[in-house]
Amino acid sequence: MDILLAKSQKFQMNKLRSFLLLLCPALFPVFSLAKALPDQLAVPGGIIKIPVAEMSQKRPKAFYGNNRVAIKASKNQWIAIVGVPLSEKIGRHKITVKTADNSQQFSFSIADKKYPAQYLTIKKKRMVTGFTEADLKKINTDKKAMDRAKSVWTEQPIDADFIAPVDGRLSSLFGLKRFFNEIPKRPHNGLDIAADSGTPILAPASAKVIDTGNYYFNGNTVFLDHGQGLLSAYLHMNSIKVKPGQLVKQGDTLGTVGATGRVTGSHLHWIVYLNKSPVDPALFISKDIARLEARNR
Ligand SMILES: [Zn+2]
Repeated sequence: MDILLAKSQKFQMNKLRSFLLLLCPALFPVFSLAKALPDQLAVPGGIIKIPVAEMSQKRPKAFYGNNRVAIKASKNQWIAIVGVPLSEKIGRHKITVKTADNSQQFSFSIADKKYPAQYLTIKKKRMVTGFTEADLKKINTDKKAMDRAKSVWTEQPIDADFIAPVDGRLSSLFGLKRFFNEIPKRPHNGLDIAADSGTPILAPASAKVIDTGNYYFNGNTVFLDHGQGLLSAYLHMNSIKVKPGQLVKQGDTLGTVGATGRVTGSHLHWIVYLNKSPVDPALFISKDIARLEARNR
């Protein structure tokens, strides 16, 4: 009885939807499923989407340099979703796509993007210079653990349909050229969302927890695998509520926002990786960005 009722309600909804579509096609996005692919931005730190084969073929394998590239089914085609490293040169680049019986190259162009500089003062000096022997040992062990986590590749279909992991204020954008106490450091490889310590951090999409840890610079950290090299990482957490190997769904709590590791205040540093390169997380949450930006005003 319940099933029948549900079916008839669904039918009514479909009828309503068809009617509204006829009335106003612009209403369609309200009813359609959230878009499942990130936005394209052909710059260093951006994402390129390239149709590489018809869906009638088996999913091909794609490579950018030596790294495997994610491939997702969309509108009867296989789409390669290429992460462009922040260090990539401006100009033409290519991916190699291999099927059972051939190998083909697809080229694309990368344009320049001027990422602004950011100067930060870190009060805890040992977070920038003057590391002790023990600090350096810990930094080295951390790097090995994080490199292992970042190189995970699983064949499961990629889930790129993200929500923002924290409802907070965008405090530092991706790609900023960084100086800590006047010393040049690597560019900002994530998106910072500031929120009070203890604010929940949610899984942006379904994933498997790769690893968790407490690292010298990054503090309490969680790594997620969303399939085919699409990974995400959550840094400086106050508490971690998941375990390695655990499966999470979109919206599940990973832990809480904190100020562990090298920070100037309580925030989430959120990294998204494609083919081992950090890319701009904002490209995955365009539907949430306006809401988060509004909190800066
Ligand atoms: Zn950050």
